[in-house]
Amino acid sequence: MEEKEMICILCPLGCKMQVSKKEDQPGELKVRGIQCKKGKDYAYEEFHNPTRTLTSTVAIRNTPLPRLPVKTSKPLPKELVYKAMEEINKVEIEGPVKMGAVIIKNLMDTDIDIVATRSLG
Ligand code: SF4
Repeated sequence: MEEKEMICILCPLGCKMQVSKKEDQPGELKVRGIQCKKGKDYAYEEFHNPTRTLTSTVAIRNTPLPRLPVKTSKPLPKELVYKAMEEINKVEIEGPVKMGAVIIKNLMDTDIDIVATRSLG
């Protein structure tokens, strides 16, 4: 039976988990190494639908700094992170910008926006 090793990132303890599918119960997982229920929920999420909050920067004109820090408005499916970075890297905007402004709306039809994490200009 294939077993995945993961680290729970929900608290500073960082439990090292061993996660595998239960052969006799489709969709159910065997999770070892956790110290609380939150870790089990995290293991299910990370095993079936891993996501990441993506942080990056975009090029900006007419401001004291050449790059504006941005992030996804919600966690993005992990398999889309590389493609999302390509899309973010194509963008160049005009300053000034307020913190929270939407820089890319509905990134790649995910219903997730790229938003400014600071004001600039
Ligand atoms: S399993 Fe619980 S105790 Fe362990 S890192 Fe995750 S949240 Fe913290």
